[in-house]
Amino acid sequence: MNFSLYKNLKLYQKITVVIFAIVLLTALSLYFSSNYIFKQNFELSIKKRLSETLGVTHSMIEDYHNRARSALGIITLTPEFVNAVSSANVGYINEFLQVIQSNLLLSIIEVYSKTGELLTRIEAKNLQNEKYHTHPQSSILKDAFTKLKKSCDIEFHNGALQIKAVMPVVSQSTFESNGAVVITYPINHYFADLLRCITNTDVMIFNPKGELAASAVLNLEGQREFNKFEFENDGFVKQHHTLPDFIFDQRTMKLNEKYCVARFNNQSYALGFSALYKSDHSIAGIIACALPLEKLYEVQNQTADFLKLFLLIVVFITLIISYRLNRLITAPLSILTQKAQIVKSGQIDDFNIPVTSHDEIGILTDTFNQMTFSLKMTMSELTKTNLLLEQRLYEIKVLYDISQSINFISDTQELLSKIIQKTIEAVGAHHASIMLLNDATDELEVKVIQGIAPHKMGERKIDFENPSITGTLAGAKIKSNTGIAGAVFNSARPLIINDTENDTRFHKMPETNYNIDNMICVPLISNNKPYGVINVVNKNGGLKFGENDLHVITSIANQISLILEKVKLYEQSITDGMTKLFIHRYFQARLDEEIIRARRYQSTLSLIMLDVDHFKKFNDTYGHQMGDVVLIGVAGVVHDLIRKNIDIPARYGGEEFAVILPETDIEGAYRLAERIRLEISKKEFEHNGKVVNVTASLGIASYPLHATAKLDLIARADLALYKSKENGRNKVSIYEDQ
Ligand code: GH3
Ligand code: MG
Ligand code: MG
Repeated sequence: MNFSLYKNLKLYQKITVVIFAIVLLTALSLYFSSNYIFKQNFELSIKKRLSETLGVTHSMIEDYHNRARSALGIITLTPEFVNAVSSANVGYINEFLQVIQSNLLLSIIEVYSKTGELLTRIEAKNLQNEKYHTHPQSSILKDAFTKLKKSCDIEFHNGALQIKAVMPVVSQSTFESNGAVVITYPINHYFADLLRCITNTDVMIFNPKGELAASAVLNLEGQREFNKFEFENDGFVKQHHTLPDFIFDQRTMKLNEKYCVARFNNQSYALGFSALYKSDHSIAGIIACALPLEKLYEVQNQTADFLKLFLLIVVFITLIISYRLNRLITAPLSILTQKAQIVKSGQIDDFNIPVTSHDEIGILTDTFNQMTFSLKMTMSELTKTNLLLEQRLYEIKVLYDISQSINFISDTQELLSKIIQKTIEAVGAHHASIMLLNDATDELEVKVIQGIAPHKMGERKIDFENPSITGTLAGAKIKSNTGIAGAVFNSARPLIINDTENDTRFHKMPETNYNIDNMICVPLISNNKPYGVINVVNKNGGLKFGENDLHVITSIANQISLILEKVKLYEQSITDGMTKLFIHRYFQARLDEEIIRARRYQSTLSLIMLDVDHFKKFNDTYGHQMGDVVLIGVAGVVHDLIRKNIDIPARYGGEEFAVILPETDIEGAYRLAERIRLEISKKEFEHNGKVVNVTASLGIASYPLHATAKLDLIARADLALYKSKENGRNKVSIYEDQ
């Protein structure tokens, strides 16, 4: 079994779980850390910039100091300069400094006399500003004069920050101070620009009053004149001209906040602050680096862009997975479901759903196709079987009805009629008949015929005025080797003829006045010997006979054979072997019945007793064999003269006969008895070439005229018989009361 769908599903499940986990984690982490990241990013960037800037600032200051120191060393150690200072030769000093100053970029060189008087001042271009003057009373000058101390430091003076290096001018003879030289580098916009060039960061430097001393931040117009700050803490509404206390407290000279967001020049910046310290560790100023927030947001925007891309990829992958899953499972499953519902509703078709994959769904689809196919086959088989079963059930019912009829219908003729009627109903035919072989004539005789008479040739309408053809053909006969019936009889095999017109075996009976289109003929067989046929003619609705009809009729034919066998046995048991008349016992029983019937219906019945005259003598004369021939002949005469199926002839014993005549009065009985007597007397009995005659004497008694009890009736008929004997024989006598 190929479990690729399972594997696929597992794979997709894993992918989905992983994607889901990634998305969830990312979303969660982004949700929880976006602020943090921003803050981190913000602080990290600022911190980094700040420390860089601070480092560069310090090294720049250091660099200025070094340059100043070396210059000062050269200047103050030159004897001519020292002399010029002590003699206050300003012309020489200026001349001398002009040469030096070219090496000291952006600086101001001041030379002070021993008394602290400014002898000269050489300024670099754009630096003719009072702000950068050294205060004559400043401690650095005092130290230079009194302690001959050289110093380098940042100084805040006249609102400006400046880097100052001081060197005393020492007399080589007296080793006393002749004056001092001060080199000043202003911490100004140029300084800030330089710093920015190195650090690539916007820089601002505030003096200890919190005022902006230098700035490398330019507005869009290229100006740096912005002294109005709005801080985040104030909700960007309050304008500050100096650093607010929450950042730098100028009274306590304490930096309170290192980072903040502020707006100036219509732009928002992240600001980082750091103190610039003097050599005595007091704060000389505040250096700040500024990062436009836009730049920081850029990072955030980048994250957002990444997120968008990520989500797009996730959606894309999800779409691909759902498409694959749809192709793999959903679509084939929905087709399967639809078809299964169709099957559920009872419409079983052999579906041929296309198999699109080789996985479990494919197998399921294929199995479903096979299943519906075999289901359809089974259903059609079942339908066939059902039909067959219905047919068999009906057959059984018919056979049951027939067997029931056997129990209740004593008359064989009636019974066979009933069976034929059932046969017609069972197979749906116009009529049917039973033909039995007459051994004597070798002819098949119609014994029973039942059904509806069709109108005329080719028509199938029912003749309502004369709907039944019962008996119309009864007695009709054909030679046992003629027609379909003859063929069936001789071959002992049934035949279905659905096209009688073109069947040469078909022989139309001259008596029939209707058309036979199709028929079934089944042999009646007893002890492996056919003794008749059953014909079923013209299937209803213009249909043709089939195997099922044949089956039913064959079953019925078997039933008929059983019945007829029984009948034959019974008839044998009540028939006298020689004379073929009823035996004495049967006579007694029938007479009982007939008297009961006559009593019930208050009708009459008569009884004839017959005795052959001088038969003892006859036997003696012609022998017993001849005697037997006579007895058979006499019985034949009686049999032929009485009413068939009404009168009951019996061999009463020896050469005595009796006839029960139901519904017959004494006159009727007498007429019959007289005819019998006459016929016997006229009859010539032939045996071994000899022809002889006999006579018989008859006696009659009637119920209830002469007797009401059976034995009385017999006795009185017998008495009448003796009367005939007494009166000379060959007579008929009616019982008379003595
Ligand atoms: P009666 O005219 O008075 O009747 O004279 P009968 O000779 O016929 O007298 P009875 O009826 O007494 O005689 C009966 C005789 O019939 C006796 C017997 O030989 C003969 N018989 C009885 N049964 C048979 C039989 O089955 N076959 C033959 N051949 N003879 C029989
Ligand atoms: Mg007798
Ligand atoms: Mg006799």
